[in-house]
Amino acid sequence: MLWEVSLWVYVAYEKLQMNKRSFLKLIFSTTSLLFFSTFSLFASGHKRSGKGRGRGRSKKNKEGRGKPKREEFIGTPYQGKMYDAHAHITSKVSIKTYIEAYKNSTFDKAGLFTKSIKSKSLEKIKNKLGKNFFFFVDLHKREKSNYQFVKSRAKSLNMAKQKNLVHGVGELYYNLSFAPFAPQGIKTNYKSKSEIGILEKAAELKLPVFIHDEKFYEHQDLLDIVKKIPNLKVVLAHLGYIKSPRKVDKLLTNNKQIYTDLSLVTNSRFGPFKRKGLIIKRVPSKKWIEILEKHDDRILVGSDIGADVQRVKRLTKVANDYRILLSHLKKSSAEKIAYKNFEKLFSI
Ligand SMILES: [Zn+2]
Repeated sequence: MLWEVSLWVYVAYEKLQMNKRSFLKLIFSTTSLLFFSTFSLFASGHKRSGKGRGRGRSKKNKEGRGKPKREEFIGTPYQGKMYDAHAHITSKVSIKTYIEAYKNSTFDKAGLFTKSIKSKSLEKIKNKLGKNFFFFVDLHKREKSNYQFVKSRAKSLNMAKQKNLVHGVGELYYNLSFAPFAPQGIKTNYKSKSEIGILEKAAELKLPVFIHDEKFYEHQDLLDIVKKIPNLKVVLAHLGYIKSPRKVDKLLTNNKQIYTDLSLVTNSRFGPFKRKGLIIKRVPSKKWIEILEKHDDRILVGSDIGADVQRVKRLTKVANDYRILLSHLKKSSAEKIAYKNFEKLFSI
């Protein structure tokens, strides 16, 4: 390229018979142009690789941004039984895909949130999935961000419970900022008569309730409602998005009806904390180990798969990450969190 430019400059000088001053001007502008184009070429190339897009990205970029760093782990992962207490089943993913995913993962059993609530439909799904799956149902009808309590679903719940087809209620969306199924988020007035009615119904049927509330820690009024329903057990999904171990400790110490699951907040494979930063890592801090062991009677593991097929395909990795996390706890605590609490809470 440099050679071509020089030739062009020489030809121009010869042909136009420029004076010395114009010739120097031409040289200056050509060099500036050359410098500018080279610089912008570098700049754009750098930007592209930084975002991690494009086909020709290098190995270094693939391992860089966009993928969270996982802590080194040398040791033996937790080897015992493990049940998934938080997963969704949707019509977008085939039953076969779920069966395959669980077969390949190291989860032995799972609790699934399902849209169906009628006994007939639940029986049909149960027959396909087999005995290792349990259902959690919601009394709301959900269509994107529209989330409404439906009275007839309460009747269906009674029937399904009688036939031992349901083991929990939820996931109730009280405060959801974003989900693949509801990009606008969901906000529910949990103080309304119908919402309190759902909690009372669940307590009456001895079914634990999963609540998704990203601002749970700020809601003393919700804790007061829970306290007024003595037999109610609440599973605060995703650790309520609470970042501080001290706050989790305080919540669980002062509210014996509250249980929690570790889905999403420990997940480096998908979900909001993949990029935001994990609340509890595979190799947890001393403080988190202390809290997990202290409250080992009321903590569960969960994958939160189901929103789409991509999440379902990552189930094995999520399971393996939990096994690493659990290996840092004393055996008795690891076993409770992995499966014993599940058996007790959902009476299986
Ligand atoms: Zn959730």
